[in-house]
Amino acid sequence: MATNHEAFDEARQFIPGGVNSPVRAFRAVGGTPVFFASGFGCKVTDIEGREYIDYVGSWGPHILGHAQEKIVNAIARAARASTSFGAPTVSETALAKAIIEDYPNCERVRLTNSGTEAVMSALRLARGFTHRSKIVKFAGCYHGHVDSLLVAAGSGALTFGSPDSGGVTPAVAQDTIVLPYNDVDAVERAFAQWGAEIACTILEPVAGNMGVVLPVRGFLESVAAITRESGALFIMDEVMTGYRVALGGAQQLFNVLPDLTVLGKIIGGGMPLAAFGGRAEIMDQLAPLGPVYQAGTLSGNPVAVSAGLAALTQLRSHREIYARLEVLSARLAAGLSDAAEAAGVPIYLARCGSMLTPFFQQGPVRNLDHAKKSDTARFSRFHAAMLKRGVYLPPSQFEAWFVSNAHTFKDIDATVDAARESLVECAA
Ligand SMILES: *Cc1c(COP(=O)(O)O)cnc(C)c1O
Repeated sequence: MATNHEAFDEARQFIPGGVNSPVRAFRAVGGTPVFFASGFGCKVTDIEGREYIDYVGSWGPHILGHAQEKIVNAIARAARASTSFGAPTVSETALAKAIIEDYPNCERVRLTNSGTEAVMSALRLARGFTHRSKIVKFAGCYHGHVDSLLVAAGSGALTFGSPDSGGVTPAVAQDTIVLPYNDVDAVERAFAQWGAEIACTILEPVAGNMGVVLPVRGFLESVAAITRESGALFIMDEVMTGYRVALGGAQQLFNVLPDLTVLGKIIGGGMPLAAFGGRAEIMDQLAPLGPVYQAGTLSGNPVAVSAGLAALTQLRSHREIYARLEVLSARLAAGLSDAAEAAGVPIYLARCGSMLTPFFQQGPVRNLDHAKKSDTARFSRFHAAMLKRGVYLPPSQFEAWFVSNAHTFKDIDATVDAARESLVECAA
């Protein structure tokens, strides 16, 4: 059996950086990435046979835990009936219908293979619907690797963005306006200047991709109002928060409805599946009804849809799961805060339901600039110390930890015990 180290060495000879998505390479924390062999519930086992309590949950999808029985059975059943037709199946309608019931602004839903694809399609739709080109996004919000969203803030408060990745052209970046999260004044200024050209505003209603950052009171309402007043569409990217912070996502939790909703992660039950939806008037601009083209050979894939339906069916019929996740997550957050205080390590614990990030700093963290003040070197030592003690955390300070319904009080308490020792170790 290969060790993680050997597996990584070999992978690097055939795969750029040895990984199929960069954060997996552990660059942010150092050390060797863990190669997994299996997972069950909240536990994952690496190729060396070591077991970990998992707080990555495949970056969000596994709200019911790994290899959950009903999801696995649904996948097996669907696969035996063919893995793909490239033609409609009734299960796609069932999934769209479930989403529409839970997300009241959605009258029509289209399925895609990844969150990136769903966001890309939603942007095209917003541009097609409004006949405008510019988009507003917020620094630190991640919306997949869509060209026009891989854009960083320019130098001045009202300048357009600059490419945040090789291969993104300045022309594309020119159409993206990047603003600080939680800054209503910046949104007002941007719309005052460019309102007539802006097709949409897109945001994570609870940011999870700069670490967890909650919207300040009134932020979502103000963004929605300012955006709509100019005739632009308000897009909530709930790929991470949808079915996570509540059944109806952050829009339900904060009672602010967007024009378009993007979903992913949990709705695929761990399979590649995402979706975007909105009012029929907007969604019917999509081909074949309208002029905005959007398609996919494997879109609405029956195996992925069956996994998603199995996950959503359980979440919808056992809403008490969200109350349980809240209790587990609050216990973990309180335990981490206590342990940090005891170790003399300043931590700002940000949490929304079962998404949380301990920022290694005093806080408060309300935007990307604040998040960046974290002591990432200390986080890296903490990460290594936790890994050694059998706790698998996201390999970056700027990510959300996810608690699943498969975690137990015992798992949470074991994690806090490991954190108590690890925080002392990394305090040095
Ligand atoms: C994960 C994520 C995406 C991208 O989804 P992929 O399936 O990785 O392409 C988009 N937006 C948000 C908020 C996400 O968390």
